[in-house]
Parts: sequence; structure tokens; C-alpha cells
Amino acid sequence: MTTIQHWINGSATQGAATATQPVFNPATGAEQAQVVLGAAADVDAAVQAASAAFETWSESSLTQRTQVMFAFRQLLLDHEEELGRIISAEHGKTVDDARGEITRGGEVVEFACGLGDVLKGSFSDQVSRGVDVHNFRQPLGVVAGITPFNFPAMVPLWMHPIAIATGNTFILKPSERDPSAANFVAGLYQKAGLPDGVFNVVHGGKDAVDAILTHPGIEAVSFVGSTPIAKYVHEQATSHGKRVQALGGAKNHAVVLPDADLEFAANHITAGAYGSAGERCMAVSVAVAVGDAADALVAVLERKAREVKVGPGDRPGTEMGPLVTKAAQERVENAVTTAHAEGATVVVDGRGLKIDDPAYADGFFTGPSLLDHVTTEMEAYREELFGPVLAIVRAESLDEAIDLINANPYGNGTALFTASGEAARRFQRKIKVGMIGINVPVPVPMSYYSFGGWKDSLIGDSPIHGPEGLRFYTRPKVVTTRWPQPAQQLTAGFNFPTSN
Ligand code: NAD
Repeated sequence: MTTIQHWINGSATQGAATATQPVFNPATGAEQAQVVLGAAADVDAAVQAASAAFETWSESSLTQRTQVMFAFRQLLLDHEEELGRIISAEHGKTVDDARGEITRGGEVVEFACGLGDVLKGSFSDQVSRGVDVHNFRQPLGVVAGITPFNFPAMVPLWMHPIAIATGNTFILKPSERDPSAANFVAGLYQKAGLPDGVFNVVHGGKDAVDAILTHPGIEAVSFVGSTPIAKYVHEQATSHGKRVQALGGAKNHAVVLPDADLEFAANHITAGAYGSAGERCMAVSVAVAVGDAADALVAVLERKAREVKVGPGDRPGTEMGPLVTKAAQERVENAVTTAHAEGATVVVDGRGLKIDDPAYADGFFTGPSLLDHVTTEMEAYREELFGPVLAIVRAESLDEAIDLINANPYGNGTALFTASGEAARRFQRKIKVGMIGINVPVPVPMSYYSFGGWKDSLIGDSPIHGPEGLRFYTRPKVVTTRWPQPAQQLTAGFNFPTSN
């Protein structure tokens, strides 16, 4: 059986790790590899390699860094199918969906390719007689990324291209549930000409994370994952003097007004709820049906939920794969049971779904579930289920829907389906959520905007990638310059310097 190793200083290594953990194929339920679980010594080895590499990489020219990014982007495109299959085999999502995350992550590489332009500083001529001011930004040093299982390529790609292109060196601690994509990306960087030690991968769980959060050689930590861990990471890393960006969980609402095209809305909400088996931080998990929209919307959603093609992620035509682990499958199916017990109507019941092939009898499958008459007190509303369960909550008006969403502790994404520009404008101005779609169910921003929610979906103050990524991975310097002429008579004043 394969053992997935760390990637430190340009090669795979077992490191100091003695413990390993199984990696499953979620479609068959079979263990297919072991991944090493890193300890403090492995993180330290990665920091040593990254610190040494920083000395030269931070001195490399913008042209050299840009060339590496262009080459890396091309390699990502060339290997999209291969990487997509690696992701599908460990995560369970369809190969096409995995290719989609590589494409969206690749857009951040494109942003990083244009760094020469966006990293330009500014210059003020003659702020005082004979005095000019300019500013520029410099890299931080060794930075780390800790990432979740649900986007093993895209979420790390939100981080490392910008960190590396700005001159930092990077340590990735990917999810232990689908670790192979990280090593594959490390190989692509090497082929692209990135010097060894600039991009490193340390596998593992809490021990590896704790070593990152406390290591004095790491300047900044980017985290994406569940809210409790985001809070922990933010607290630990800031108390150890690091810059932190920490993105957490979500409960995303799609509001449907009676004037919306219900067929269109239901189509998009179905894809947003059940795509990737609901294991997306931007998945639609609650549909808020306003007024007269409710009964008709539920009828269309029911039809569409029953049409979703569930199967192994590498079977052509599959729209929804299995969940990532047996535990996730049990958690999601128990949540449907609890919803029923709490009084919700189970319109479509995904529990106990079996695939028509004995090879997948032990896979972690569950079908799409649709719950109606869900109230805000029920577990299915309060908890992030992170599975293919869509809850329908009914509201009398748009304002009631807005109040409901604003009272929810999460604020990652939300969508409004309507034909009214006035309603859309009111919604986007009043809603306390970071990413908003108007007739767009999964409004993931393009790479040249930044990604991040509000409230418990983002701990601290830094969204990720785009302009915020650039700011996060660099520190500003402001230089005030005077070049006196040799004959110039200048007296140095003892008062605080002002312009003249
Ligand atoms: P997770 O929080 O369990 O794990 C994320 C990372 O933290 C992993 O690398 C994991 O090894 C590490 N980790 C787990 N437990 C830890 C502990 N006790 N101490 C230290 N480190 C620990 O998240 P997940 O299950 O991998 O991913 C799903 C979650 O991520 C969902 O809540 C989802 O909403 C969220 N997510 C958010 C975004 C976003 O942009 N806001 C994007 C993707 C996923």
C-alpha cells in the first residue's frame, strides 16, 4: 500500500513521522493509501528548508517569479484531467467538478502572473522642497497554509501562488483526508522551475497544525476550514505573533421571491445544494421561499432532487458522488432522521441510497434530501450539515427573509432569485453576508476580487486572495528621500518635521 509522504526541500520524505492514517476511496469505501502524520520535527524541517530558500527567492526578480507562475499555470492546465482524477479518488466528487476547482484555483495563478502590475508602489514628487516619498511592499518570510478536505486543489491555490509570487516561501498542511493533490502540485511547481524549499508540504492533523501555530520561524498563517478550528487557529497564531487569515464554516441561504422564474431558481438551487454532495463552503443549504413562491418552488425542487444522478465520481454522467468519509455519511443521514423527529417534512429522503453496482456497496453514498417546513430552532437549520440536504424555510416577505439570514451566526454566501432590481438592491445593501449572488446560486468571486464571509464565516479581518491576499502576504515600507546638492545650505531642525 502507498504511503503518502511529506514534500520538503524538493523531495518526498517520510520525515520524523512514525504515525500514519488511512486514506479512503469514498466510492468503494476501501482504504487505498496511508498518509504520514507530521510532528513538530517535520514542521521544523520544512521551516528550515523554507527559511534557507527565502534568502534567495525573496531576492529573485519579479520577472523570474512571473515566469515560474506562467509555467506553473500551463502545467496545471496540462494536468487538469490527471489531478482531477486524483482528487475524485480521495474526495469522491466527480472528475468534472474536480477539474472545475482546478480551473477556479488556476485563476489565482493568473492573478499572480500579473503581479508586476498590481504590486507597483506609488511615488509623490516634491512633498517638501527637494524631498520625495515612495512606497513598496516586501514579502514576510516563511508563511503557512492549513486547508480543508473539500477543495484539496482550489483552497491551497487561493494562498500559495500569491504568497510565492510576492517572494515568500510556503508550507502547506493539507487535509489528511485527501492529501495527494498537494504533493502533485508540489511536483508541478518543481517542473515549472520553482527552486527547492520554496513550496513544501507537511501532512498531518492537530500535531502538525499546533507546530505551525507556535513555530517562531513562521510569519503568517492562512487557514480555511470549520469555524471552531478557525477560531482556535486565529487565537493561537495571533498569540504567537503571526499574521492570520482564518475562514470558517457556512450556512448559505438562497431566497426565492414570488416574481422569480421558479424553474430557473430551482434548477440553480438544486445544483448549488447537491453539487459536490453539498460539501462546499458556498453550497446552498437553506432555500427561503417567500410568500406564494413556496408550494410551487417545493414541487419543482422535489422533481429536480429526484433527478440527480448519484454515483462514483469517475463514472461519466454522475452528477453527485459519495461523501468523504463513513462518519460524514452517518452524520448527514442522522441529521435527516433528527429533522423528521423535530417536525420537518422529509419531501425527498436520501438515506440508505444504494448504487447499482456491488463494487460500490460499501461506498459512503447518501442521496439528495429535501426538507420542508424547517424552522430556525431545528438542528437542520442551526448546524452546518455539509452534505446533500436542502432545508426549506418559509417567510412572508423579503424583509423577513433578510432578518432571518442576518440572525444566522454564519455569513459566507447568499443568493436572491428575483426579477426585481429594487428587491435585489435592497437585499445586497441590507444583508450581513460577504458574498452575494443575484440570480447566481454559488457566488464565488473571481480571483481579482477577494473571497471571504462575515460573522462566524471569517475570524479576524482578512479575506483571502485578490487584493487582500496581496496585502496579507506583504508588508509596506514608505521611504522619504532627499538628495541635497553639495552646495545647499540646510539646517537640521529639532522640531517635528513638516513640509515647506
Ligand atoms: P476542518 O476544520 O475539520 O479541517 C481543516 C484543517 O484543520 C485541516 O487541515 C485539519 O487537518 C485541521 N484540523 C482539524 N481539526 C483540528 C484540530 N482539532 N486542531 C488543529 N487543526 C485541526 O474542516 P474540514 O472538515 O476539512 O472542511 C470542511 C469545513 O471547511 C466546513 O466547515 C466548510 O464550511 C469549511 N470551509 C470553508 C471555506 C471558506 O472559504 N469559508 C472553504 C472551504 C471549506
